[in-house]
This record gives sequence, C-alpha cells and structure tokens, in this order.
Amino acid sequence: MSVLKSFKSSSNPSFLFFTPTKPKLPLKTPSSSSSSSHKVWSHRSCSFVGKTSYFCPRKISFNKSFTLFSVKHCSTSSFEECNRVSRRSRGPVMAARKASQGKKQEDGKYKHTVDLPKTKFGMRANSVVREPEIQKLWEDNQVFKRVVDRNNGGSFILHDGPPYANGDLHIGHALNKVLKDIINRYKDESEAVPLAPFGTYGKLIGIPDPGPEIASSTNQKLRVLILSKLLQNYKVRYVPGWDCHGLPIELKGKYYLALLQSMDYDARKELTPLKLRSKAAKFAKDTVKTQMKAFKRYAIWGDWDNPYLTLNPEYEAAQIEVFSQMALRGYIYRGRKPVHWSPSSRTALAEAELEYPEGHISRSVYAIFKLVSASPASNELFKEFFPNLCLAIWTTTPWTVPANAAVAVNANLQYAVVDLHSLSEDVPSSEGSGKRLVGSALKSVQRKPFLIVALDLVPALESKWHVKLTVKKTCLGSDLENCRYIHPIDKRECPVVIGGDYITTESGTGLVHTAPGHGQEDYITGLKYGLPVVSPVDDEGKFTEEAGKFSGLDVLGDGNTAVVKYLDENLSIIIEEPYKHKYPYDWRTKKPTIFRATEQWFASVEGFREAAMNAIGHVTWIPAQAENRISAMISSRSDWCISRQRTWGVPIPVFYHVDSKEPLLNEETVDHIKSIISQKGSDAWWYMSVEDLLPQRYRSKASEYQKGTDTMDVWFDSGSSWAAVLGKRDNLRYPADLYLEGTDQHRGWFQSSLLTSIATKGKAPYARVVTHGFVLDERGRKMSKSLGNVVDPITVIEGGKNSKDAPSYGADVLRLWVSSVDYTNDVGIGPQILSQISDVYRKLRGTLRYLLSNLHDWKTENAVSYGDLPIIDQYALFQLENVVNNIKDGYENYQFYKIFQIIQRFATVDLSNFYFDVAKDRLYVGGTGSYTRRSCQTVLVAHLLSIVRLIAPILPHLAEDVWQNLPFEHTSEDGSVAKFVFESRWPHSNERWLAMNAEDVDFYGKLLEVEILSSMGNGIAESIPYSGDCLIQGKKVWVGVSRADGSKCERCWNYSTKVGSFSEHPTLCSRCYNVVGVQPLPVVAAVS
Ligand SMILES: [Zn+2]
Repeated sequence: MSVLKSFKSSSNPSFLFFTPTKPKLPLKTPSSSSSSSHKVWSHRSCSFVGKTSYFCPRKISFNKSFTLFSVKHCSTSSFEECNRVSRRSRGPVMAARKASQGKKQEDGKYKHTVDLPKTKFGMRANSVVREPEIQKLWEDNQVFKRVVDRNNGGSFILHDGPPYANGDLHIGHALNKVLKDIINRYKDESEAVPLAPFGTYGKLIGIPDPGPEIASSTNQKLRVLILSKLLQNYKVRYVPGWDCHGLPIELKGKYYLALLQSMDYDARKELTPLKLRSKAAKFAKDTVKTQMKAFKRYAIWGDWDNPYLTLNPEYEAAQIEVFSQMALRGYIYRGRKPVHWSPSSRTALAEAELEYPEGHISRSVYAIFKLVSASPASNELFKEFFPNLCLAIWTTTPWTVPANAAVAVNANLQYAVVDLHSLSEDVPSSEGSGKRLVGSALKSVQRKPFLIVALDLVPALESKWHVKLTVKKTCLGSDLENCRYIHPIDKRECPVVIGGDYITTESGTGLVHTAPGHGQEDYITGLKYGLPVVSPVDDEGKFTEEAGKFSGLDVLGDGNTAVVKYLDENLSIIIEEPYKHKYPYDWRTKKPTIFRATEQWFASVEGFREAAMNAIGHVTWIPAQAENRISAMISSRSDWCISRQRTWGVPIPVFYHVDSKEPLLNEETVDHIKSIISQKGSDAWWYMSVEDLLPQRYRSKASEYQKGTDTMDVWFDSGSSWAAVLGKRDNLRYPADLYLEGTDQHRGWFQSSLLTSIATKGKAPYARVVTHGFVLDERGRKMSKSLGNVVDPITVIEGGKNSKDAPSYGADVLRLWVSSVDYTNDVGIGPQILSQISDVYRKLRGTLRYLLSNLHDWKTENAVSYGDLPIIDQYALFQLENVVNNIKDGYENYQFYKIFQIIQRFATVDLSNFYFDVAKDRLYVGGTGSYTRRSCQTVLVAHLLSIVRLIAPILPHLAEDVWQNLPFEHTSEDGSVAKFVFESRWPHSNERWLAMNAEDVDFYGKLLEVEILSSMGNGIAESIPYSGDCLIQGKKVWVGVSRADGSKCERCWNYSTKVGSFSEHPTLCSRCYNVVGVQPLPVVAAVS
C-alpha cells in the first residue's frame, strides 16, 4: 500500500509524487460501519491533491484509474497535456481564508472573477443572544403546533414522567428531558421508515404482534406496508407533567413551617388542612413555573400551555377513578402496617419529620423463648436438647414483646446450640452504677437451658453475660426455619422464620425478635410468612386491652418496665442493660416516637401479579437487562400500601361508620366524589360536609359517617398519569409508545404505572421503556455540594460568574453532550468534557458555514442531474446517503451516541478534510456558471440540506440558525416551502445514490483511506526518492516525483506551461483563460 502525498508551495515549484511506505491504516471500513447494516465508506485524512480523473463526468473504470496513476510528469498540470490532472490550488484557498477572516484581499486583476464564499451566518454561536432569539421565532410562529397539525400520519406518544415540583432542576433532569426531546423532534421530522418485521412497528403503535403464522403470509406483508405508511410524518404529542402532591411539598409551605416551629400543640390544630393545602398548592405551582422556564431554555418542545399537574381537578378525578376501578375489582383492601407514630402529637410521622438526638438510652434485654418443636429438617439435629432448648434474642424495645409473632434468623449464618454455665453462683445482680441487671434465667438454680445463638457471637455473649458457653452443635440459619417456640407472655406457638440481610452478627444474638406491628423489617418479613400484624398500642402510646395485663400502661414508661418485670418473673431474662443508640424523636415535640401498626389501605399485588409479569414480557425494554430488573421487583414485591396520613394529596374517598368503623366504599359513593372533585378539586373533600359528599341515597344517614383523613401515596398519583393524561386528552393515546426515565423508576413510576394499568385495564401503559443512568462528575463521582463538582444545567447554558471557569455554552452544547453519552449507563459531565463537546460543536458549525457560504448564488435550477455528475461527486453523495441511513438507524434505535460519532467524523473531519478541500478549486476559480462549480454546488446543497436536518433533533438552534441563513428557499417534496427547519422533513431516501458501481466504491473507499502526511518540510521532501515502483492493490505501479513545469497562474496559482501563451491574459493558465470569459466553454471541457 502506498501513501499518496501532495506537496505544493507557492514559493517552490510544485511536486506530485507517490511514494511507497508502510501502511498506517487498515483498509477496513471504520468501526461505525461494523455495527450497522449500512456501509460507511469513510476516510481518515483526505487532504490529498485533487485528481482530475475524479471529476470526469463519465465514469472511469478501475483499470483506467491505474493507468492514470502511471502517467509520468502528470504533475505539470497543463490543461492540454493532462487535463485529467490538476492540483489543489492554494491561491483561492488562501484568498478564501483571508476573506473569511475579514482581511482585505490582495488586489488583483482577476479578483472579481473568483467566487469567494459569502454568508451572514456567524462563525460564533453567540448562544446567549441567538438561542433565545430562535426560540422566540419558533414561539411567535407557533412552529411546533403548526408542524404537529400539518403532519398527518400516525401519532407518536412519548409520555412524560412527571418531575417533582420541589426545588431547582439538576443535570439529571436535563439529561432526561433532552433525551425525550431528541426523540420527539426526530419523530416529528421523520418521514420514510424502512420496512421492518411487523412486530417492531406493531409494538410501536400499540398493535400486538399477530404471531409467526400470519407474519409470513402475503396478507401480513401488505399490512406491514400500510403500517409503515402510517408511521410517516408522525403527529408528535408531548405533554409535560409535574408531580405536585406529597410530604416534601407539604413541608415546603413556608408559612406552615414557620407556624409549626413556633406553635404549641393546640395552636397547630388551628392550622386547618385547607390553609395548609393552599400553601402547598401555591408552592407547587410556583415551582412548576420555575422549572418550566428552565425546560424551555433547554429547547424542550411540548405542550407547555397545557401541561399536566397532578393537582389539577381533572387529574385528581381520573386518579380517583383508577382507585375506584381497582377497588371494584377487589384489589383494594384495608390492613395494618407499622408507621412512625408520635404519641406526644398523636400523629403518624414521615421520615422527614424525625430527628435522632444524641444520647438516647433504651432498656435492652437479652431474653429467651422456649422451643417446643424442631422443624422436620432439624429434628435429628436438635432432639437431644429438648425439652430444654431456647432461642436467645435481644431487643431494645421490650414493650414490643407482647406483639412478638416470630423469631427471624439469617439463612446463611452459622448458629450454635450452646450449654450455659454460670462462672459463679454469685453473679452480681448489679454492676457499676447498678444499671446492668442479671435476669432470673441466669440466677435460676434450676437446670440452665441450652440456647441457640449465632456461632460468631459466642465469645461476645460470654463476656457480656459473664458466663461460659460451650458449643454443643452447629447448624445453618436455614435449618432453624419452621422450628416453633412458645410466646413468653401469651403462650401462643410462634415460628422461626428467615429474615433478610438486616440480621447480622454485629450485635445481639443473631436471632431477631420479630413484631410485624412495630417495625419495618419485621413487617416485610411478616408479609412473607403471613404473620399477624399485632400492635396493641393506642394513639397515645398506651397498651390497649389486647395487651391483657399491660392494658393502659405507657409503652415508653411503666408499660416497658412491666413487660421486663413479667419476663423476668417467668425466667425469660438473661440480662438487662442500658443501651445508647440513635432513636427517632418527633422533631416538633422533641419526644421519642414508636413504630405502631395503623389501619392502612393496600393494593393487593397478588391479585394481578401474574398479569403484570406477562405484560412485562410484551414491552420492549431498552437496555434489554431492564426487563430482568423490573421482573424481579414485581415478582417479589409485597402489597402496595397506598394510604398516607397526610393532608397534601388526593383523598382516599372513603367514609367510616362512626360506631363500627366499617368503611363505606362502593361504585356509587366513589362516582359521586369523583364528579365533585372533577369540578371543585380535592379541596372539596376537606371543605364539604359528609352529607354533601355522600350520594343522594346515603344522605339521610350522613350523621352515621365520618370522612376518612388519609391521602393517597404520591406514587399512586403519578402512577395514574396514563389514565389522567393519555386516557383523557384528545390526540393522545393509551398505551403510550414510549416511557423514558432514569433506572430508579423501575422501583418508582414504571412500576406504579404498570400496576395501576394492569389492575384496571389488564395491559401495560407503554409499548417501550427506555431507561438512563445517573449523571456523575468527570471522575465518576456522585455530584455533591461538598465536593464542589455539581454541574448546573443553567450555568452550562448561560455561563457562571466567572466566564473563564464556566463559559456560556448554550443549550445546544448541553444537548450535544446528551447525544454524546451512552445513557444506558451512568454518564459523566464536567468542565473538560464540556470544553471538548464545545469544540465539536464549533467545528460542526464551521462545516455548515462553509456549505452556506459556497451556495450564496445557488438556485435549484442550477442543479446538475445525478447522471451528469462527475464520479467523485457521485461518490460524495454515496457517502452522504450512507451517513443519512446510519444516523437514521441511530435515531430509530435510540443510540444517539452513534449519531454523535458519525456526525463528528463525517461533518467535522472527513468532509472538511476531503471533499471541501478538493472542492475549493472548482468553487472559487472554476467559473461562476461553470459545470464544474455547479456540479460541486449540487453536492454541497445535498450535504447542507441533509446535515442540517440530521442534526436538528439534537441541535435545534444551530439547525434553525442555518435554515434562517439559507441563501435559497427549500421546497419540500410536497411542494410547500419550509420556512423553519422543522417544517422540512427528514431527508428523503435516495436509493440511486447508493447504487454506485461496486468497483468505484471500492476504489474510492480505499483511495480515501490512504493516509496523507499533512505537511512536509523541504528536508523530508529531499529524502524522498524521485521515482520508483510501489504496489497498489497488489499491482506494481511506477511512481514519479517531478518538478512542475511552467509558471504560476495569477488567478488559480497552479503551475502550467501554458501560462504566457495567451496574449490577452499572459499570466493565466488555459483553464483560467477560458473561465474569465474569452470564449464560452463547452460543458465537458470546463471540467478541471
Ligand atoms: Zn489558472
């Protein structure tokens, strides 16, 4: 393989030589093509000399090309002697560069005959000014609406996951919304979609795959054709949304906060739910405004005049309808669940309302529960120890022992049966300050029991209990499952169960006293085993009658003491000691809280789990592993607790009978409430009387009922958006084509939406789900204020205080960054990355500017028909068409980083290094109306109109800026003039451009991959042999280097022996002599 090199200097005679050298680049096509079905014939560095043969309007054969290479002295590019060979002319290039830099061009006799580039399109983006101007242009002209109205094909619905209307936006929001916008804008533009298997498009527009039998039939093929037509010019409907209810917003009501902090308990009661709700609503609406402004600045197109807010009455009504349908299908039930409860304020608290002061001390006890039977699996193992075998547990809340329902172990830990010996019969009953108390189980003179504890904890327990523990037997936690013990207080039989990873050997005994009514983990474990949720504690934190002998005692005071005393009297306490740890306090009353099970509303996932699992299999998940994630979560999830003891939310529309506490919830009552809320909003639940809220039939009994005070989990709010938005608004459609959110939404919105949709409609609310990762800093660290690595999207766009550290990059650079990352993983951003992205943007802008500036005199009728184009122009179009197809693939498969890579290489490297370089001679000195210039412009127009539309979804401002500076009107295929870039459509496909002779493609492809040394000093030139043989594609080729003959042409700066032979223009070469108009040239002869 040889390296082709041109060398030209205005001060030296010119050279053209071929020289053999080691190949530096593989001849294979670049990586971008390997992963794609389309072949990209790319070239790395192409600043080689233009060879006239490429410009020959008639195709030349492969062999002819080689013949051409063998021509001796071809470097003396005289038109007559070797009209197929010319060289890159530095003259016009330099002149153009000077012109573009605004320098005054040297005066010359032929200056007026040179076609220099001209455009008003700026080199600099000036995005701080220009982007808002462009956005205003769109807004003033209602471009989005017009385009959507004009498009008359199928619709495309990307349903927005509502961000929380709480605080400022961060870079993750920007990533999410820009990804959505790129897809929407592409769909909006896209026109022709290639045929694909039915399933793909069927799914996309919500039609299920009919299966393999039909798919193979002719009938099916016809349907595919019809469907693909439907997909042309999508109507894109994007309705942005906001999640507006819930505790964080409730707490943000500043008025509320200030009041709460200064008020006592009675005064707080004066803060009515309605006052609080109005403050929270105002806060949410203000935040929506702020966030909307930022989203618009990112150039996110959507129906901003009609966003969906979960606090809108029509939304709330639709949500209540979803609840009602689930209730009518029997999926909603009332059950008990532990919540943080403050006895001092008699209310449930959320995590955000708790504080953990230093110095809290609990009374902790090591207690023993007597086993009555082993499991079948462990019978042999343990039978020698019965009936004197006990489980040892440890708890910091002895008052929860009456509610004990199980003892949990970790299946994977080693446990031991130990024999217990007191070190001395005179174990001190108190030690030190008298805090540590030895229990009767140790003091007892009776035979000491065998205990089961975690093997690893044996030494620690020996020293803590002041005893000797002898290991008699060991087993795995899993062996203990289903052993049964006697409850130490009410003598029930309870099981040993397998808990989660929360059971460790860091403290306690490795066996966990489990009271599902008094702890989160206990509750989860309890759900798994169907354990009773016992919680014999009332609102004030006192034992109820259910607690028997402890009834009426304060669980945090005398109740706790009484339980410990009872256990000790019954030989169940090993030791009791104070334990200092973090314990949740009510942040308002500064008093300790408890975990207490209260009545809650649940959605029974069990009822529709299988349907949900089936539906997951019919959704397309991108990336594919997301399917496993959500499947695992749905298959293992417990019932969904949908009620909250909050004020700022949608009410659970239930009345309770005053005496029996029986809930009243049926189709009639819910329908009535729904119709009220749809008109008046959910505030009505708080300000209207029970009588008015009840339907006619129940009004006479209104005094027997009271309203429920629970609101719905906010995930139920947003999880109903498919019903409230897709199902209600004109022009939208359920299910949506696409949901796109962060991976955390497998647990959140993807899941809650799926559950509500499956439960009521039996199908998933989406056909496709795309997930993205989190945004980290450049070093892969989480962003945090303390690390100082937070990237604020608005600062990226508008710049920071210090313009050097934080330049104003504009929304397009931010969007280009979004396109550059593989968002299926976590992605990075930081100053260096942004600076690199900004470089790519600048080069791309330069490429577009070059195209615009050389088309200033372009008219559509100047176009040279494809068949008349020189082969190099045909090859340029061949490449362009491949790029268009590859980029389309990138958009269709949501792989925007591939688009970024292709565009970067094609438009900013390949194109400017090759085609533009060789085009300059033709464009500037070829003659204004000449065939050579027009054929080149034909290629440039195709590039300009394609590239601008290819990049428009990612870089809408740049694309529109280019479009507004087009020196000609672009008429679409349908005959309408596109005044804005988004009024034009995706470049239509040009199959003919791809139909190049394979030999030609091969030849140019390989030729263009030849690496060219970009510059060569005289020293190097001298070291290169003047002639020799080299191998080109296995053929021996003679190559020669020669000093150019003739003199430099004043106009084009090429050397020619003909300079001096025209008496009227003695300083011109014959080509320029012809161009300057002495005689009109025949078309073919004008080709230089
Ligand atoms: Zn010339």
